[in-house]
Amino acid sequence: MGTIKSAIQGVTERIRQAAITAGRDPESISLLAVSKTFPAENVREAWQAGQLAFGENYVQEGVDKIAELADLPLHWHFIGPLQSNKTRPVAENFDWVHSIERLKIAERLSAQRPAHLPPLQVCIQVNVSGEASKSGCEFAGVPALAAAIRQLPRLQLRGLMCIPEPTEDLQQLRGQFAALRQCLQQLNQSGLQLDTLSMGMSADMEVAIAEGATMVRVGTAIFGARSYARH
Ligand SMILES: *Cc1c(COP(=O)(O)O)cnc(C)c1O
Repeated sequence: MGTIKSAIQGVTERIRQAAITAGRDPESISLLAVSKTFPAENVREAWQAGQLAFGENYVQEGVDKIAELADLPLHWHFIGPLQSNKTRPVAENFDWVHSIERLKIAERLSAQRPAHLPPLQVCIQVNVSGEASKSGCEFAGVPALAAAIRQLPRLQLRGLMCIPEPTEDLQQLRGQFAALRQCLQQLNQSGLQLDTLSMGMSADMEVAIAEGATMVRVGTAIFGARSYARH
């Protein structure tokens, strides 16, 4: 026992080391624990170790887990692909959505966000590899999508998210994170005040932190290897 706790301590130490190496304040990087495919009891164990923010990819699984853990003061982030017919439970149950790639989804989330809840915190997911098969908004479309999201009353745009193309080529990987950072800088130079770069996972968090990540999304290094049998 105690394995999730020690894994969180290990990841926290990796984040700290990577921040120091990059000349950054470790406090400027937050850890999102990605609990997809893992049961509520594992999330509870992570909470006992001090973890408050959790990421989920699948709407129904996430909503069920949120209900099961309603006694805990957790922050829930939706980070998976989102179809328009599934926006309502996300708007009603989550605190953040990282995976917005088109305006229609954002409009629905804003319209469906309950009035008694604070605005939904959102990031635009960007296709940093440029591959047609990858999800995310193209770089060229980001400024217009950001401007449109800013008009939506029940959403608060916080920043950008990416899932880079996996590659052994460290320079190529780093270049994808750098491109997302530069995109955020350009938005901020044009007058936006975005504070979130959601990038970096178990295998590449050090590279993402070197390029400015403010939130790393870590699953495997905390909860262990996933089995996708449920999905
Ligand atoms: C699963 C997932 C993660 C976590 O990946 P690990 O490699 O297990 O750390 C992060 N972000 C997204 C969008 C994911 O789907």
